[in-house]
Amino acid sequence: MVSRVIPVDPFDLVVFGGTGDLARRKIIPALFRRYCSGQVVEGTQVIAAARTDLDTEGYRNVAAASIREFSAGRACEDGTLERFLQMLAYVKLDATGEEGWSALADLIRQDRTRAFYLSVGPSLFAPIAARIRSHGLVNAGTRIVVEKPFGHDLESAKALNATLAEHFHETQIYRIDHYLGKETVQNLMAVRFGNVLFEPLWNAQFVDHIQITVAETVGVGLRGEYYDRAGAMRDMMQNHLMQLLCLIAMEPPARFEPDAVRDEKLKVIRALDAVEPHHIVRGQYDATSDSPGYREAVGHPRSTTESYIALKTHVSNWRWSGTPFYLRTGKRLVARSSVINVVFKDAPHSIFGADAGGAANILSIRLQPNEGITMHVTIKEPGQGGMRLIDVPLDMSFAEALGPEGQDPPDAYERLIMDVIRGNQTLFMRGDEVEAAWAWTDPIIRGWQARGEVPKPYEALSKGPIDADQLMRRDKREWRGIKP
Ligand code: NAD
Repeated sequence: MVSRVIPVDPFDLVVFGGTGDLARRKIIPALFRRYCSGQVVEGTQVIAAARTDLDTEGYRNVAAASIREFSAGRACEDGTLERFLQMLAYVKLDATGEEGWSALADLIRQDRTRAFYLSVGPSLFAPIAARIRSHGLVNAGTRIVVEKPFGHDLESAKALNATLAEHFHETQIYRIDHYLGKETVQNLMAVRFGNVLFEPLWNAQFVDHIQITVAETVGVGLRGEYYDRAGAMRDMMQNHLMQLLCLIAMEPPARFEPDAVRDEKLKVIRALDAVEPHHIVRGQYDATSDSPGYREAVGHPRSTTESYIALKTHVSNWRWSGTPFYLRTGKRLVARSSVINVVFKDAPHSIFGADAGGAANILSIRLQPNEGITMHVTIKEPGQGGMRLIDVPLDMSFAEALGPEGQDPPDAYERLIMDVIRGNQTLFMRGDEVEAAWAWTDPIIRGWQARGEVPKPYEALSKGPIDADQLMRRDKREWRGIKP
């Protein structure tokens, strides 16, 4: 099935940090793929602005190399890349000084949507926002896009929000959490609110518990210094897993509109219980024969930052009272896998007898890899003889079911950048959501700091610390396996 592509009017997009890792791996390839699909049209202008000493021709070479590396395998007509590169311009600019800003202002056109993508560290948000304003580049159609980390704690998040609010209205600010751009995440809303099948069961009466797992096989890589200041709680739990929890737990919004959806997500965050210390497991991965352990990788032999965290929390409202939410995320785990499992309660009575087998229904929502949804149902084991029950998956892989032949669904950045241009904030975090998420996170972190807790070591490429299994077993439950 080929999805319908609605072209967007030509726009100007300025990518601050256009030579950086994120721009090269994600932003520029995403724009190219939208150009290939016909959504980004001729007349659009993408201006990369960074400190690097380059001119437009040099930047086009950088962009071409990135696209070849990170968009390999995408079907595009011959000559498309060359035409796309003509849309790119480069301005050497200092975010904290005046160099380059007049040249940038001269390139920006008046008659179209303009977006400023701050693909730079958060310390540059304030100087860039102030200069966008002082150079007269803000008009009603201006949008500003910021990346995580959005703050380090509640106080810093409030300060960032205040800085942006000095220059932009909240309706102009797009805080990216790329998890929200994934096909499955939106499908989660479609499955919940587009069918009558699930919503009547979507509550504490029928759901035993919910598990959210975001597992990576990679270690901290080159981000060691940043990561050691953040840890899994700040880097993943406070934003990505929290957003997934919100979409699973929220009430149906009256309309699929940005503030209606975000109001409901905010209510979930505010209903989250404080997490008991014995409901948190933190870990650090060990070395293997050919790769360093966490502490060595971050260059800090006594680091107490976690590369793994699992916790149990509750959403204290009528819908979810008594249903635990188990969340875990970590690096150097056995497989790269992001999945939400909604585990339903057992049937109230088995007419087939206690020995017949069968298992609870589970709805598994896979975010990566192989985005899709699986419903585990109980059926009769085929064959002759007595009534024995088995658990079988009803599986839907989006790539197989919906993708154009041989192509994956669009990358999250493709969708999110197009949403910025179309002015749709539904999949972006509002300032008060981010602050509420930090308000929940801060006491948890302060708690383990005050107790002087040290993360437990765990074997690299395993499912994480043993204690995380205990977290579940104490409640007579099990984590689902982490499968690629
Ligand atoms: P990077 O260090 O690779 O790139 C930084 C860019 O900023 C470079 O283009 C550099 O020239 C530019 N820059 C730095 N100081 C400047 C100045 N004074 N004036 C003008 N330009 C300046 O960083 P990155 O990995 O691309 O990350 C950018 C932002 O996105 C960071 O906030 C990061 O936390 C966030 N982020 C990155 C990723 C990722 O996968 N790389 C993922 C999520 C969020």
